[in-house]
Amino acid sequence: MEFRQAYYDEPLIKDIRSDNSFKLSEDVDENILPQNLKRTNLKLPEVSEVDVVRHYTRLSQMNYTVDVGIYPLGSCTMKYNPKYADRIASYEEFRNVHPFQPESTVQGTLQVMYELQEFLKKISDMDAVTLQPMAGADGEFTGILIIKKYFEDRHEDRTEIIVPDSAHGTNPASATMGGFDVVEIPSNSDGMVDLAALKAAVSKKTAGLMITNPNTLGIFEQNITEIAKIMHDAGSLLYYDGANLNAIFGITSPGLMGFDIVHFNLHKSFATPHGGGGPGAGPVAVKAFLSDFLPIPIVGYDGKRYFLDYGKKKSIGKVSSFYGSFSILLRAWSYVIRNGDEGLKNATIRAVLNSNYLKKRVEDHYEVPYYPLKKHEFVLSTENTGRRALDIGKYLLDFGIHSPTVYFPLIVKEAMMIEPTETVSKDDLDRYADVLISALKVPEDDLKSRPKNTAVSRIDEVKAARDLKVRW
Ligand SMILES: *Cc1c(COP(=O)(O)O)cnc(C)c1O
Repeated sequence: MEFRQAYYDEPLIKDIRSDNSFKLSEDVDENILPQNLKRTNLKLPEVSEVDVVRHYTRLSQMNYTVDVGIYPLGSCTMKYNPKYADRIASYEEFRNVHPFQPESTVQGTLQVMYELQEFLKKISDMDAVTLQPMAGADGEFTGILIIKKYFEDRHEDRTEIIVPDSAHGTNPASATMGGFDVVEIPSNSDGMVDLAALKAAVSKKTAGLMITNPNTLGIFEQNITEIAKIMHDAGSLLYYDGANLNAIFGITSPGLMGFDIVHFNLHKSFATPHGGGGPGAGPVAVKAFLSDFLPIPIVGYDGKRYFLDYGKKKSIGKVSSFYGSFSILLRAWSYVIRNGDEGLKNATIRAVLNSNYLKKRVEDHYEVPYYPLKKHEFVLSTENTGRRALDIGKYLLDFGIHSPTVYFPLIVKEAMMIEPTETVSKDDLDRYADVLISALKVPEDDLKSRPKNTAVSRIDEVKAARDLKVRW
């Protein structure tokens, strides 16, 4: 049942010749161009329409996408991106607006942004939202700048941000970029925040704690309200990394748990296309006492018209040009409108069910450490099998399925972090489990030679990183 991906030794487009190809229409008559504007030494590809289409389609088939199959890249939430959202984002009325148009001519566009702000407030139980940040990490940076300005405003000198050892790398990176010192605390034997370690780390220097819940092990922090109390009693703030919000929509919320600042990864939770550093959106929501610090402008509504509100006295300023990643905001809005509260809650339940089903299918073969009940993702370790996570990940590719995230979080050795999402069927989950289990039965040297059926086989990743060539 191995999947054989069509292998194409695809040349560059400049090396494709269309001399003998079928021409759909005659070439443009060059004589209509003024002689003095013609360049003589310009080597553009001379390729017919058929050859252009086939070239790019073949290139696209050398890649793997959410439109091909299961893509269980833990933490990244690679769920299927529904096409209605793309269609709405392609409407001329949205595509052709200019950010400097007078407000009266873009009321519909502003309405979309306003409604998205309102929805994000509601679903997170927070009080105010900025749509500006371009990604989750940008949202974190925005949140960190808000924390900084908040304490400056209060004339408190707080220099430290606490981060658990299971955190995503962007958390300590954002805190450091904001000028804070990062204090790392260990997880306990259940894979949750160690309360004693947290209490020991908190001091008058602590500005905040950044965590995600459920955490990157897919485990819900059961002591979250106590954690919030510890932070607030010490006069410090609580930051919610929203990358895992798709595990709790409609069930609970960061506001209820006691968080002060939240970022959303719209490209993860709300099914907009992402990956490879592609477009994203990382709105930030805050409790009322922090709303004056948000970036400007916010989209306002006075009951008659929508407008850009620049009136935040203590704003940290702008964190992106114009108003954020509008085409992604629009897709997220479409997704929210189409699903409604009930649809989002069902997606959450299904995502958690899919994750636990897959975990159950593989846990007799792989160790799944820490607290047993997982949410939308789980982390297994290949260490007890004597095989490397990297080799197993490569093996999966030969079956036309994507590898999970490997070697993250750092506290699990030979980690594979699996997030199937709600958009895969039981058949897909069963096949994924079968292939994961079969990886333990093939001879070691076979495993090391994988993948064999992909457009590119095993690459030398160390050389690729050390000896970077960015041109052909
Ligand atoms: C993806 C992710 C981030 C960073 O978000 P980007 O949108 O990729 O910048 C932060 N934390 C966690 C847990 C994530 O999964």
